[in-house]
Amino acid sequence: MVAEEIEKLKQEIPAGVKLVAVSKFHPVEMIREAYDAGQRRFGESRVQELLAKIPQLPDDIEWHFIGHLQTNKVKSLIGKTSLIESVDSEKLLQLIDSESRKAGVVTKVLMQLHVAKEETKFGFLPEELLEYFRQRKFESLTNTHICGVMGMASNTDDMERVRNDFAEIFRVFNEIHNDSSLGLRGFDSISMGMSHDWQIAVKEGANIVRIGSRIFGEREY
Ligand SMILES: *Cc1c(COP(=O)(O)O)cnc(C)c1O
Repeated sequence: MVAEEIEKLKQEIPAGVKLVAVSKFHPVEMIREAYDAGQRRFGESRVQELLAKIPQLPDDIEWHFIGHLQTNKVKSLIGKTSLIESVDSEKLLQLIDSESRKAGVVTKVLMQLHVAKEETKFGFLPEELLEYFRQRKFESLTNTHICGVMGMASNTDDMERVRNDFAEIFRVFNEIHNDSSLGLRGFDSISMGMSHDWQIAVKEGANIVRIGSRIFGEREY
């Protein structure tokens, strides 16, 4: 089942769009199935769960952290991820940077945008993120590489609203990306789209999609 879905997705997802298989709440056996089908990029949303899974699985897996990261967990996560997609505050970013410096590593991150209408979602408002870059605050980072943005659409059946949310994420990304005065390098990732809405996200410019239940089935929380 898992291998079949991975195969199908590989054919459906256009070239140039990276698939993150979101394996949170699923056992290592299922991750291994996806791995054996050729998948190497996985997404997890809880630090404890990720740290428990890493030693049980092959070393060449690229782990993306996609959940809300509590500040007291940052230190234990540094050096374990290929990308932290869910940086949702300046305070968190600074902590990632200082812990990365102490550990002697460079951590790649995405800035999480909050465009959905739900109050519970984390992230920078579009204007806050634009302001962060306009004020060139990123220049103080020594061991963190901001590679782009991540976002989620509103949780709704109204696909027009979903499309608008993705378009807004893309607009903010593009405004930063196209501002050559910022001198950013490697700011080129737009992570948006999940099992039910990834096609719309790709149409709106996503180059990373995060797909869980479509591959692994429903999660039991
Ligand atoms: C769980 C999760 C996903 C995957 O959602 P599915 O609907 O299972 O595809 C994607 N992104 C984030 C941030 C998540 O927490």
